[in-house]
Amino acid sequence: MNLMKEKKFGFGCMRLPVLDKGDPTSFDYELINKLFDAYLERGFNFFDTAYTYHGYQAEKAICKALVERHPRNSFQLATKLPLRDFKDSDDIERIFNEQLTNCGVDFFDYYLLHNIGSNVFVKCENYGAFDFVAKKKAEGKIKVVGMSFHDTPELLDEILSKYADRLDFVQLQINYIDWEQPNVQARRCLEIANKYSKPVSVMEPCKGGTLVNVPKEAEKLMKDYNPNASTASWALRYAASQKGVFRVLSGMNTIEQVEDNTSFMADFKPLNEEEIAIVEKVTKIINDKTAIQCTGCEYCTHGCPKNIAIPKNFALYNSIMRTTGSFSSQMVYYNNIAINHGKASECIGCKQCERACPQHLSITTYLKDVVEKFEKNSIIPTRK
Ligand code: SF4
Ligand code: SF4
Repeated sequence: MNLMKEKKFGFGCMRLPVLDKGDPTSFDYELINKLFDAYLERGFNFFDTAYTYHGYQAEKAICKALVERHPRNSFQLATKLPLRDFKDSDDIERIFNEQLTNCGVDFFDYYLLHNIGSNVFVKCENYGAFDFVAKKKAEGKIKVVGMSFHDTPELLDEILSKYADRLDFVQLQINYIDWEQPNVQARRCLEIANKYSKPVSVMEPCKGGTLVNVPKEAEKLMKDYNPNASTASWALRYAASQKGVFRVLSGMNTIEQVEDNTSFMADFKPLNEEEIAIVEKVTKIINDKTAIQCTGCEYCTHGCPKNIAIPKNFALYNSIMRTTGSFSSQMVYYNNIAINHGKASECIGCKQCERACPQHLSITTYLKDVVEKFEKNSIIPTRK
């Protein structure tokens, strides 16, 4: 299959709409159904989920909202093998079969080794994950094999030098903020994928919404150039314009977002030189105001002994630093979060979150900044 001929825009299902923001499994099926239907009606067909998304329940939600409501040949489905959680090689076959059942399908169009970094790569090798996916592909249970990658270009080079023949594509985090960001090194990772002629699928083109709600002066630059283009459109087109990128994934929570994204991705035009120059200015503005480069993926929260809502705390902190939210309203949010979660000051420094973070953030250090801002500067009493 020539992946470069596939539809260039996929529906990312890491952050589906929920009824209760504190419960990732409280799926808003009425809205999800409408979003999926609208996306399909506009001629697109690709959905990307994972075993671990939404408290390990996303695959079942996909089954209900997509697989049970649409003919199998009208969509393509991708999911991912959660190697991070595995204790031995027997887990692979067991979880793979469970995933087929969860999704209600006989095969996966795309299947990825999930969240590969140095630790998970060791598990991939020790547990024979590359052989496993090759076997399932030969059996017809997987059509296209890939890996989602979150580590250094050097590690990507090492992996592809050994396993390029097992991987049809690589999924990378590419957006204009992370292009030269030292924790992500998007440009250099893409160059490595290009070196091995591996087509690239893009995750986090809007960096978890960061590139949708940009500072006002950054938004003005984009609106002055094209009043009709959304901030999201700049981010998606930037990612899709890069060499070797065959698909960009984006999560959508409203019909307006589906309509907007599908409109410019149906008739995709790469960014021109003027637009690239504007993006470079926007990048500088955002970087100057972004304290914590968190994508909100929530990989860190599973297993936190204090149940600290790490990404929510970081989003509030960034919002204040970017002056996109008032301090008093962010304080109200902080205290509301603390009703059902540990406060940042309750962190015991075990660092299990840091081992899980695909962005390699120093979470415990940043939590101390959150404490300074929200607990020591508090103008509203925090939960006792
Ligand atoms: S270091 Fe703190 S935030 Fe991270 S898992 Fe441990 S207690 Fe939770
Ligand atoms: S701190 Fe890291 S793991 Fe946690 S949500 Fe942010 S990017 Fe994801």
